[in-house]
This record gives sequence, structure tokens and C-alpha cells, in this order.
Amino acid sequence: MGYKIRFVDPGKNYRMIKEEIDAAYFEIMDKGELIYRSHLKNFEQNLADFVGTKYAIGLNSGYHALALSLLAAGIKEGDEVIVPAHTFVATASAAIHAGAKVVLVDVAKDFNIDVDKIEAAITPRTKAIIPVHLNGRLANMEAVMNIANKHNLIVVEDACQSLGGAFNQKKAGSFGLTGCWSFYPFKILGAYGDAGAITTDNPEVARMASLLRFNGEDRETGEYHYHGYTCLLDNMQAAFLDIKLRKLPSWINRRRSIAEMYKKGLGNLEQVAIPHFEDKRFYDVYQNYVIRTKKRDELNKFLKDNGVETLIHWVKPYYRHEGLGFTNFNYPETEAISAESISLPMNVELEDSEVEYVIETIRKFFRK
Ligand SMILES: *Cc1c(COP(=O)(O)O)cnc(C)c1O
Repeated sequence: MGYKIRFVDPGKNYRMIKEEIDAAYFEIMDKGELIYRSHLKNFEQNLADFVGTKYAIGLNSGYHALALSLLAAGIKEGDEVIVPAHTFVATASAAIHAGAKVVLVDVAKDFNIDVDKIEAAITPRTKAIIPVHLNGRLANMEAVMNIANKHNLIVVEDACQSLGGAFNQKKAGSFGLTGCWSFYPFKILGAYGDAGAITTDNPEVARMASLLRFNGEDRETGEYHYHGYTCLLDNMQAAFLDIKLRKLPSWINRRRSIAEMYKKGLGNLEQVAIPHFEDKRFYDVYQNYVIRTKKRDELNKFLKDNGVETLIHWVKPYYRHEGLGFTNFNYPETEAISAESISLPMNVELEDSEVEYVIETIRKFFRK
């Protein structure tokens, strides 16, 4: 591709921690510890401790974390589930596969569900709400939990983009019935393939999710309790994730300092909106650094021509994809975000000089 600055650089990330990853690989291969062994159990314990929940259940993806959460919550045919209009499609797909009707709610300027629009979407059939903590920032969980309690709704957090983020000092994934995690390679904690997890304080939900990932089988007794799935987190991936989880606090600090550099460098550009929303209750971890500008497509081309790899998350809103079957949509903020937003390189592999180069290139574009 010839990019000077990569959006993410998984090879470089691996070389930063190669010794530990290689040691885990050779140990596990040598012992043949592939399925449901100590590395998985250790990672689950460490993840639960990090998030601040009693349980963590390792799964093969964020999608399955959402899907099993909705099953464990008893969501079924005819129920309505509230989902943000701006999120990764899997949030909605999990509810659809549970048999539910997905009711979309627009997002606000911070890319997360507009809490002032939730109550208008609630009907007697509404059973659950899935707040998504997008880009490393939590949804306003005080408002979400108040609305959920008032209307007796289950909250399943799609925390796939916000491991380590917090609201009022409480971590993402510890508010709802469950927190759902993806360790897809380019998430803030990424495996070397697909991976995910559920966190929860609820022992029945933890047990049900643990059985569902093993085709419904209780591995102690051999009894099948449910029609389940095959969606366990590999022991090898768990070992790698456990190593990276130990680096996460310092990696989050690095992301936050890169975000500060972008803020200093881009904050005074009139035609650019940067993702800093002054509110002391939120602790953001910057999974993505998404800026907005009316000149998005021109800026994107200019960055590419100058060797900066960027990403446009979701060129059109997912509800506009005909195959997904949504109708009657009117979500102006989601539409504007799809037209105006562009994600800048944000990863712990970046050097300061590279961040400066991205900033300089953007400033040059707007000087033209
Ligand atoms: C990544 C992601 C998911 C899905 O995770 P997978 O592991 O790819 O299944 C769901 N929701 C959000 C917000 C995500 O970013």
C-alpha cells in the first residue's frame, strides 16, 4: 500500500511484546493445552477483576457475547430491543437473531445513544436496551440505567469498543446485566483472530453463558441443559489476551496522550470537530479517534495521497443496507456522522513524530 503511517500496525504491536507471546505459544503447543485450560480460566478471572464484575466468560466473538446475553436475558419473539442507529451492525443482528424487533434510536454529538430520545421509543413490548459505548467512550449510563429501572428494562452493554473506559469511576461492562466484549484484532484489546467475552455479576447468567458456549453441556456432568452453540474462546487466544491485558493500563495512557496531541494540534481548526466532550464524569479510552468535517472525502483523499492510512467507519448507516430489512428511518445525527466522519490513526504502535505528521498533513489540507 505504501502508507507512511498505518491505521493500525499489528506486526509492530507483536514485535513490541514478542518475547512473552512466543513463550506462551511454545508452552501451549508443547503441552497441547488447546481447549478450556488454565490460560482461559486465568484470563477470565483477570478480565472480571479488571472490569469489576464477579464473572467473565470467554467466547469466540463480540457477536456471540451479545447473542448469548440476550438469550440469557430471556429475549424472545415479539419483544422489542432498543439499539442505537449508529453502531456496528452486530449489535442489531444479535437482537434480530433472538427473534426480537429492533427499535433504533439516534445518537448524539458524542456518537452514543441520545438518552433524551430513548423514552419516546419505549412501548409495552420493549424488553431491553443495548447502549453501545462507541469509540472508547461510554454512553451516559446514569441516564440509561434510570430509564431502564423506571421502565423495567434489561440493559445489555455493548462495550466492545470501550475496555477500560469508565463513567463516574465505574467501568464499562459493569453496569448492565452483562457487558459484551470483542477482542477482534483491532479492538483496544485484540487477539490474533476472533475472540470475545461476557462480564456479569449474575451467577445464573454466567452459568447459562458458560453452558451455551459448549453446546449447552455441563462439562462436569455431561448433561445438556440447552440447545447451545460452539463459541468458546480458544485457550491459546486467551493466553495471548492475558499477556496484553497486563499492558492495557499503560496502552490506554498512551492512547489518551495521543488524543491530547490531536486535540492540541487540531482543536483550533474551525472546520473540524474533534472527539473531546468536556464532561468530567467520562473517562474515555479512544478505541477510535473520529473527527468530523464537511470536507471529509477531500480530506480523506489528501491524507491517503500523503501516506496516512485512515478509516471511514460505515460509509452509510447500517439501516440503509436493504438486506437488513429496516424501514421508516429518520436519524439525522447518524446520517451526518456517516457523511462527515473519518477515523485517524490511533494505536499504541504510533510514534509521536507520526502523530505530528498526521496533524501537520491535516493542517496543510485546511490551509490550502
Ligand atoms: C466489534 C464490535 C462488535 C462485534 O464484535 P465481533 O467480535 O467482531 O463479533 C459489536 N459491537 C461493536 C460496537 C463492535 O465494535
